[in-house]
This record gives sequence, C-alpha cells and structure tokens, in this order.
Amino acid sequence: MKNVSTLFGSMVFNDSAMKERLPKDTYKALKKTIESGKYLDDSIADVVANAMKDWAIEKGATHFTHWFQPLTGITAEKHDSFISPKDGGSNIIMEFSGKELIKGEPDASSFPSGGLRATFEARGYTAWDPTSYAFIKDGILCIPTAFCSYSGEALDKKTPLLRSMDAINKQALRILKLFGIDDAAKVTATMGPEQEYFLIKSDDYAKRKDLIYTGRTLFGAKPPKGQELDDHYFGTIKPQVLAFMDDLNEELWKLGILAKTQHNEVAPAQHELAPIFTDSNIATDHNQLSMEMLKKVAVKHDLACLMHEKPFAGINGSGKHNNWSLSTNTGVNLLDPGSSPMENAQFILFLTAIIKAVDEYQDLLRISIASAGNDHRLGANEAPPAIISIFLGEELGAVIDAIDAGAEYNQKDKEHMTIDVDVLPKFPKDNTDRNRTSPFAFTGNKFEFRAVGSAASIAGPNTVLNTIVAEILKEFADKLEGSANFTEDLNALVKETIAKHKRIVFNGNNYAEEWVVEAEKRGLLNLKSTVEALPYFISEKNIELFTKHGVYSESEMHSRYEINLESYCKILNIEALTMVEMATKEILPAVLDYVSDLGKTAAQKKAVSASISCEVEEKLLGKLSKLADNLYAKVGELESKLASTESESTRAEAEYYRNTVIPAMEELRIVADELETVVGKKYWPYPTYGEILFYN
Ligand code: ADP
Ligand code: MG
Repeated sequence: MKNVSTLFGSMVFNDSAMKERLPKDTYKALKKTIESGKYLDDSIADVVANAMKDWAIEKGATHFTHWFQPLTGITAEKHDSFISPKDGGSNIIMEFSGKELIKGEPDASSFPSGGLRATFEARGYTAWDPTSYAFIKDGILCIPTAFCSYSGEALDKKTPLLRSMDAINKQALRILKLFGIDDAAKVTATMGPEQEYFLIKSDDYAKRKDLIYTGRTLFGAKPPKGQELDDHYFGTIKPQVLAFMDDLNEELWKLGILAKTQHNEVAPAQHELAPIFTDSNIATDHNQLSMEMLKKVAVKHDLACLMHEKPFAGINGSGKHNNWSLSTNTGVNLLDPGSSPMENAQFILFLTAIIKAVDEYQDLLRISIASAGNDHRLGANEAPPAIISIFLGEELGAVIDAIDAGAEYNQKDKEHMTIDVDVLPKFPKDNTDRNRTSPFAFTGNKFEFRAVGSAASIAGPNTVLNTIVAEILKEFADKLEGSANFTEDLNALVKETIAKHKRIVFNGNNYAEEWVVEAEKRGLLNLKSTVEALPYFISEKNIELFTKHGVYSESEMHSRYEINLESYCKILNIEALTMVEMATKEILPAVLDYVSDLGKTAAQKKAVSASISCEVEEKLLGKLSKLADNLYAKVGELESKLASTESESTRAEAEYYRNTVIPAMEELRIVADELETVVGKKYWPYPTYGEILFYN
C-alpha cells in the first residue's frame, strides 16, 4: 500500500519545500512576491534558484525547463542541463542561476503569434510565474512561466488568465468593501475541471491513421451496440483501466494535483477524472499536466487516451465541466448564499452581476469554447447547445422572479424579498443540479460551465469568465460606492438588472427543439459553429472590455482571432487529407481485394459447373462495384474542393472549410461507412467501432 500523504507533492517545490530549504528572509520575500502576484526580485532569485536546483538534483533531475502554454493550447518545454564546465572543461559543476530561473529566451519564431511577431520583436521570452510552483516531471525541473514578446505582448494563454484574475480580484474587493468586509485582502477565481476521456487499446489506435493524425475517427459504421443500454455510466471499472487509474493518480499526486474522483462515463470506453478545485491559474497548469499524464500513463498500460471532443460519431463525445467560483483569501466562497441577510445580499449582488455578464457577453463565452472538435459536440443532444444560457434551479429561479416582480416570495413566513434585510430561503444544494443540459449552471455554491471541450485549455474560458464578471462588478461598484442609501440603491440596482437580463436564465431542457425557438424569441445568440462565432471576438464592445481591464491589448485580440481561425482551417485540412489517404490507400484496395476474391470464387464455381448458383457473388460484386465507384468519385470531389481553399482572408478560408469541405468529407464518409458494413471482416483495414469500444 502506498503512502499517499508522503507521495503527495513530493515532486513539487511547494511551500513546505521552500520553507525547509530557503533562508528565512528569502522565504519571506518569496512568499510576499507570490501573494502579491508580482515578479521576483533579482536579489533573492539566486538564492531561490540554488535551493531549487539542489532540491531537484536530490530528486534525480539533471535538466530544467521554462514550461509554458503557447497559443497551440498545449504546453511547451525546451530542456537545458544544469551542467557548467570547470577546470578548463575537464570537470563540471551543476549550476542554476537566478537569471535562468526568472527569464528564458526560447526561439519564439515557431510558435503561433497571429501576426504579433511581425509587428513587434521576433524573439520572445519566458518569465517565471511564482504563483505556480516549480515541479519535476520526467527528471526535468519545470518552471511554470508566462510567454511574452519583447514588447510585452502575451504570446501565451497563461498571461491573459493571470491578468483576468487581477481584474476580478480588484473589482470583487471593491464590492466586498461595500458590504463592510475589510479583512479580505484578495479574491481569487477558483476552478475545478472535470476531465472526460476515452481509453482504447493501443493496438487499435496504431491501426488507424485517423486517430493518429487527427485524434478522432473519420470513418466508422455504427456498431450493433452503442450506449443505448446505459450500462457504462458509473459501471464497474475494468481491471486494466483501474490499473491505469491507480498509476495515473500516483503520478498526479506526486505533482501535487488533487486528483479526487474517477468513474466510467456515459459512452463505452469513456471515463472521467475530477480534481479538487484550486486557484484558476494553478488549476489550468494542473489540467494541462493531467492531460499530458493521461496520455503518457495510458501508453504504459498498452492503452491510448483520446481527449478529442468527438472521437466516435454517434457516441457521446467528451467535455470538461469548468466549475468556477470566487473565494477570498480568508476562505469565504462568494457564491455560497450564506445564512445572514448581509451574506445573502452580497450573494445576490454577485449573482446578479454574473447574470448580466453572461447575458451581455454570450458571444465571448461561446467563443471561449469554440473549436473544430467541439463543433461536433455542442447541440448534438449530448452537450449543451451553442446557445448560452444560465440555469439557476427552481428555488433560486423563484427568488430572482420575486425580485423581478417586486412580488412576495411565498416560502414559509417570508413575504417580501428585500435584499440586505431578508434571509434567502434555504435551498438544498442537491436541488440545484438536476438539469444536466444547461451550458452554465448554478450548482449550489459555484457555476459549472459545461460546454467546454475536453481537449481545450481551460485558460481561455476562465479568462473570459473572470473578465466579464469583473466588468459588471466594476459597473456595480462605480454606482454603489457613492450611495447615500445603500439598501435602497442596492435593491434598485439588482431589480433593474434582473429585469433587463433575465432572458438569459432558462431552467428548462436545453436539448429541446422548442428552446432554440424560444431563445431566438428572447434575442439570444445561436452561433452554431466556430466559424460563425469567432468574428464576434474582435467586435468593438469586446475590444473595449478586454483593453479596459488590461487583459488583452487590441493587437493581442487580433492575433488570437487569426490563430483560432487558422487553426480551424489547419485541423480541417489535416482531417480531409487523412480521409483522402485512408480512402485511397487502404479502403479502396481492401474493397478491391474482396471484389477480386468474389470474382475468383464465382469463376471457380462456374468452372466446376455452369449450373452452380453464383447469385451471392454476383449481387455482392454489383453492390461493391457501385459503392467502390462512388467512393472513388467522392474522393475526387473532396480532393478538388481541397485544391481551392485559398481565400482572400483567413475568415473566408474558414468559411470555405465549413461550407464546402466539411460536406464533401461527410459525403465521402457515408459511402465508406456503407462499404464497411458490406466488406468481409478479414478485408477491412481497421478495427471497427464495436471492436474498439468493447474491449476487455
Ligand atoms: P458534481 O459536479 O458531480 O456535482 P462536485 O460538486 O463534487 O461534483 O464538484 C465537481 C467539481 O467542482 C470538482 O472538481 C470540485 O472540486 C469543483 N468545485 C467544487 N467547489 C468549487 C468551487 N468553490 N470553485 C470551483 N470549483 C469547485
Ligand atoms: Mg459536474
């Protein structure tokens, strides 16, 4: 039995390691830097670096890296060893300076910059983010860093997230002051991501170019059994998967990741991992590390981990519920309704701000989860639709209605709902989580943003959430700070805001057709695909929002817009090319082999006697030949569409992929999938859905 408490965080240069290894003064100075979120002072950096190096070497590390999160959505690292020559090169010493800890200069030119580098400096630099602890992974000391251009433009996902956390901290503290709370020095956005993934056998994975190149199957007929029996969700976990999970937990715990819950998900071969929530930036680092570990540990168990949003058509895809809340440094969850009138009033004000923020910035929330992969999932009756709305639950919904109507709230002896005076009715936490169809649901003491894709970095959605809520809190604070009659003005503000933004609240079934109609009536956005959503990012309103709070500069926004469009085009291009290759080099030859064997069988039969029936062979040959012709034609059509993707702008190109290339891919797939059902098993070049999903 392993000792989890000694294991936990053993590969992290965390607070206890720092306390143990740093001189008192250095430790104090570093702590102060961490708490204030500022960069580290040069004078103490050398001492910290040296202690960190000694610690890392004791744990077996030989190299260090500045670990960062470029706009690819995954992490990047370049390893440098600690060695430094001594005695004219005949010996070495292990060295690591403060300068190396604080700043690195990776060659930025091969990371996406969306034009930022053309406008500014070619080189980028990484800077230590001391709010996230250094850790050892695969014998490498990893230093979490932000990645910027020399002119200070963020080239990564981490920097804007940190900036958005500053913004919400600042504005939330102003609100708390209004409620007489002076003991909170900091408000932090907290996050707990529930990661879904598939595990399949690595042998099956290796046989499919589509999985290897694109992370999802581009062909595959529906198996006789899918998820209709609902026998996988929370079902007994297979021994091979359990062994994988044990191993994974150990790796995650070593890295100080609070892996907590694991279970089978709805689809066959689908599972989930949820950590205990923590600060947004650390949760983001940890989620990136968890995704990396999921893949690595799977390989050790002869499995492949699929994190794509839709690895199998017709089977539920994977998402990542993004649980979000706000917490003070004194440990108070600001989205917990509380029990006194004052706490409730404060809760209602935060809630009102969130309602307004989500309504006014539906577009940004939609964009924050937009990707080619997630387009397969949203609105497919397995994930929330592309329409953003809020679920509050019956009780809280009724409170909001009561405030809106200025009416009486009929629960027990409560007659009026006067914020700041009355106590909210108690609503049990469980009651708030019955609806699983809403993209943004209140679940008792936090919001759950459910539309996030499984493969995505959670930095983007949280940057948006923090910033839009910061903006509305700012508006509220600006209004209420000078108020002569706080209770009255608070009530008026809440009532007026709810009346105006209530349309975003929807407690019904988000999967229903009627909701689409109703949402349209309410004037809510329905941005069905990534391509339709992305252009909203650079609207005047959104540029004003992000620049005002110092989260993105205008050029940083344009760069992200370009990169997201480009990456959409690239993903589709790779998928389409993979389909062409598979169809031409594997599927068609397999079909022709079968055709040839059928022909031979028929000829042999005829040679024996002209009267022997060859009906089956003839019928199959007829069917297969037709389908093969069709397949060949569809490959040709897709190829010709791919030959003219070039457009006058990236947006036009993305639209071309969406409107012209995707339909051609779909048509090709239909023919190939039909062939799969006709061609003999021994000829078909790939493991089928049934074989992949139901393994032992
Ligand atoms: P479920 O969504 O299945 O009801 P839980 O309520 O346990 O499960 O929470 C799911 C996720 O939400 C977990 O990762 C948990 O740590 C996270 N979570 C809980 N409270 C908060 C909070 N205050 N802020 C952010 N995340 C939270
Ligand atoms: Mg959940």
